Amino acid sequence: MPEETFMRAPTQQPRKTLYTEAMEIFDRAADAMGLDRRVRLELEEPDYEHIFYVTTKLKDRLVPVSAEEAKKFADLTVTKVRDANGMERLADGKIILNGKALLGSDVSVRAGHLRLDDGQVYQLVPGDIARFKAYRVQHNQARGPYKGGIRYHREVSLDLFKALSAEMTWKTAIADVPFGGGKGGIQIDPRQYGKEELQTISLRFMYKLKSLIGPNIDIPAPDVGTNGEIMALFLRQYSDGERERHNQRGVITGKDVRIGGSEGRTKATGQGCAYCIEDYFADRGETLKGKTFIVQGFGNVGSWGSLILQNMGARLLAVNDSDGTIYNPDGIDAADLMKYVNENPKNLKRSVLGYPGAQTMSKADFWQLKADIALPAALGGEITAEIAEKLNVKLIAEGANGPTTPDADRVLEKKKIDIIPDIICNAGGVTVSYYEWIQNKRMEAWTEKDVDARLELALKKNYRIIRDISRNTPRKTDMHDSRPYTIGKTVDTRCAAMVLALKRIEAHYMLEGFSQ
Ligand code: NAD
Repeated sequence: MPEETFMRAPTQQPRKTLYTEAMEIFDRAADAMGLDRRVRLELEEPDYEHIFYVTTKLKDRLVPVSAEEAKKFADLTVTKVRDANGMERLADGKIILNGKALLGSDVSVRAGHLRLDDGQVYQLVPGDIARFKAYRVQHNQARGPYKGGIRYHREVSLDLFKALSAEMTWKTAIADVPFGGGKGGIQIDPRQYGKEELQTISLRFMYKLKSLIGPNIDIPAPDVGTNGEIMALFLRQYSDGERERHNQRGVITGKDVRIGGSEGRTKATGQGCAYCIEDYFADRGETLKGKTFIVQGFGNVGSWGSLILQNMGARLLAVNDSDGTIYNPDGIDAADLMKYVNENPKNLKRSVLGYPGAQTMSKADFWQLKADIALPAALGGEITAEIAEKLNVKLIAEGANGPTTPDADRVLEKKKIDIIPDIICNAGGVTVSYYEWIQNKRMEAWTEKDVDARLELALKKNYRIIRDISRNTPRKTDMHDSRPYTIGKTVDTRCAAMVLALKRIEAHYMLEGFSQ
């Protein structure tokens, strides 16, 4: 190949990825504030990107056969499984046979098929070995150990984790907690696996991750598809057999309170969203009394956010989740809906769908509903420019990470719909994770009231600094001091939030210097 072909600058624009899209706001804020050139290069790409694999032995499954196939077994008698706990029904219709499920039962098997008392014919499929792709991206540690959740989801990628880990770097800086940013997880649909399978996958994941993390190095937490139970397994796998095991409790946050978790952590992200929304209206001399809201996602963030907003006087009109949408113009009781989603044994998908206190509606109609607030609390990229055009709300409070695309942002600005950006709106989780980490270090246990009061102050104070940066109104009050952060011009709220993050990170590099 002639040399000039090698050297020629590419004529095409670099490919747009989730990461480059997420970094658009970084570029905008860095330009607006004149971020130091070397700090910019340090932050533009993650410190480390780890990819590894987790293998495990799956359990035997009963797989439902088609109606056509079932005809061949029309005369097959029903197998009565005596130990009901031995069968675990999965969201995809398959059933896992645990332990000695069929022992002691009246079993009729023909050609590897059996019929259960639900009338369905199942094929017995022996457990296979499976391999899953796993990730941990460590974005930046200028302000402290890497910090960020572990996601179990089918649609994850290095690109996504790069974007999410960078978000954590900004978020920990905005919340002013002494952490950097990280994120990781496994490419898996957890609803297709049994409890014990997920346990062994989680243990194997931590076995591989162990050498990369530590209470002062990188501190994982729950995210989509993971929870306190999985955090407990992570902690055990990380610390089992270690001489100073009790000193390592802070390696994982989001733990159950009985094993070193913090009071108020489970609801912290939703709580933080509600505090920010409350402060948004307080700034306008209003309260949440009588305000209406719609929520996308009714998992940890969406459900707690809804309940707390409702307790502050707002009314929940509609909820959309991965299985559908429910709507009631008179209001949906968030506490009752939480019970329906989490405590109803028949609701295998943990969905809002089928909730008796509401009617169903299409996702397109959901996004057009008139309400004061939209709380997206599902996945990223859900509010596209097309959806932004339809939105009929005054405020978007970003509970999810990156729910609004940059194209949608431009539409929202035109429509004068305000945004509380994710990096402040959902920073409640990581803030209380920090409280959990300090409690672990100090061997203390704080009360829920204490945690809530600290969280409220931390979020409202930093949200006020962001508003001051946005309006270019440097000032010092009893609660906050925005003078070191304003940049001599007004910017939109998302850019202002990023300026606050970058100014705090930049200070570390400029004052502590670079290790060559
Ligand atoms: P979760 O797994 O508890 O709940 C996710 C919810 O989103 C479920 O109700 C699911 O049905 C819904 N959902 C998934 N895909 C959807 C789709 N395509 N359309 C509509 N609904 C869909 O997750 P979570 O912990 O509540 O996290 C939700 C969001 O908040 C994520 O973006 C996460 O990164 C972010 N977040 C979570 C925390 C935390 O502390 N849990 C902290 C900060 C940010």
